[in-house]
Amino acid sequence: QLDNIVRHSSLNAVVATPNRASILAAAESADNASSGHDVDSRSPRGRVILVKDNICTTEFPTTAASSILKSFKSPYDATVVKLLQDAGALIAGKTNMDEFGMGSHNMHSYHGATKMSRVAGEERSAGGSSGGSALAVAMDQCWAALGTDTGGSVRLPAAYTGTVGFKPSYGLLSRWGVIAYANSLDTVGILGNSVDSVEGTFDAINAYDPQDPTSLPLSTRSRLGQRKTSSSSLKIGIPLEYNISTLSPAVREAWKRSMRQLQERGHSLHTVRLPATQHALSAYYVLAPAEASSNLARYDGVRYGSRAEGIDGTPESVLYAKTRGEGFGSEVQRRILLGAFTLSAQAIDNYFIQAQKVRRLVQQDFDRVLRVPNTLVESSTEIKDEGVDVLLCPTAPTLAPQLSELQNQDPLQAYVNDVFTVPASLAGLPAISVPVDVAEQSRQPELKAQGIQESAGMQIIGQYGDDKAVLDVARELM
Ligand code: GLN
Repeated sequence: QLDNIVRHSSLNAVVATPNRASILAAAESADNASSGHDVDSRSPRGRVILVKDNICTTEFPTTAASSILKSFKSPYDATVVKLLQDAGALIAGKTNMDEFGMGSHNMHSYHGATKMSRVAGEERSAGGSSGGSALAVAMDQCWAALGTDTGGSVRLPAAYTGTVGFKPSYGLLSRWGVIAYANSLDTVGILGNSVDSVEGTFDAINAYDPQDPTSLPLSTRSRLGQRKTSSSSLKIGIPLEYNISTLSPAVREAWKRSMRQLQERGHSLHTVRLPATQHALSAYYVLAPAEASSNLARYDGVRYGSRAEGIDGTPESVLYAKTRGEGFGSEVQRRILLGAFTLSAQAIDNYFIQAQKVRRLVQQDFDRVLRVPNTLVESSTEIKDEGVDVLLCPTAPTLAPQLSELQNQDPLQAYVNDVFTVPASLAGLPAISVPVDVAEQSRQPELKAQGIQESAGMQIIGQYGDDKAVLDVARELM
């Protein structure tokens, strides 16, 4: 895998790698750590793991793919990085992303775009914003990779690259040392080639962290643990609102295949309605930029960020404007403007407040159709008779688009890719994307990444805290 990092460097999935001496030293200590242990397909011990460039590491720079952080090196490791190191993983580098996590095709990066090469010579989108992590997994440059998912940034790249991408319930994984985009939505996520590697990585980092104020406290974690696991025959919900007219035929075909597969495994299918889904995307694109505009205020060239050159001694307002104008890319600037507008006195009632109401409706939709109670709003842990265990729907409306088609695309077109991933984000629910073959084929991730095999991402969404059920159903689809 370390050789693959070098061999496939033209794909631009990995943006920082350690020097050879530290790789050898780390590999040796990982070897020592694993000797005497049985090789466990789920354990990150001795495994190569890559980390998205918005997660702080002391060994590598942390730029969030932004020019404003081009010379930033964190003085501390993020909790999730530390936990992986404690578990014996080899953190071998940083992966490319859309600047500050804003984007769906990994094209808005200070490091240049991530490019998924296809056999026909056409380059396709690896998805965003964790496109580097997903492609690195697909190209076997690592055993697993960390990403972040605010509105789909782990699941969408997983769908486009034919890998597994998991966004756990909000608050389970620590965000200490993760550069904030939209705090109420930001979740660390995991990409891998199998549900086992994803689950093993998740288990190693799923811990309460007193340094993250949104980390789920131990008392709530133990309540989640008390939930009775349901039988081997599950009720799978098929949300009708996801069957949109613009769904590509290949994705619809893969959706039907996965329904059949789960039925053959003894599960039953039930159509459900989630009416607020149609407003979820608009609500997300009000709330996420609003939080981002506030978060990104700190990068002013004084407290944080690289200052624009030749302006020392000028009034502060000039210093800020020039630093931020040069340091942020166009998409980030658009989000800051959008967020500042929707939070302004004349717009807040019509935008921000309405979007918060839609967010609540989206949460209520899920709680209504899922039979597992939402522990955050209900005291009971009893599973209801009515309702379904998990939901099955596509991750994205289409397969990975060609980069050439995206060059002059309207930003709104990119936002539309997130239509199926943002509802689970707004509700904080666990969701995973698994690759399902579009046609009958064998499974080889590396071939898939080169376009020799085509797969569509299918998403399993579960109730808050029901992460294990989501992972179990995902395993049955692989
Ligand atoms: N594409 C979405 C956005 O640009 C999702 C990003 C994410 O999950 N980080 O906001």
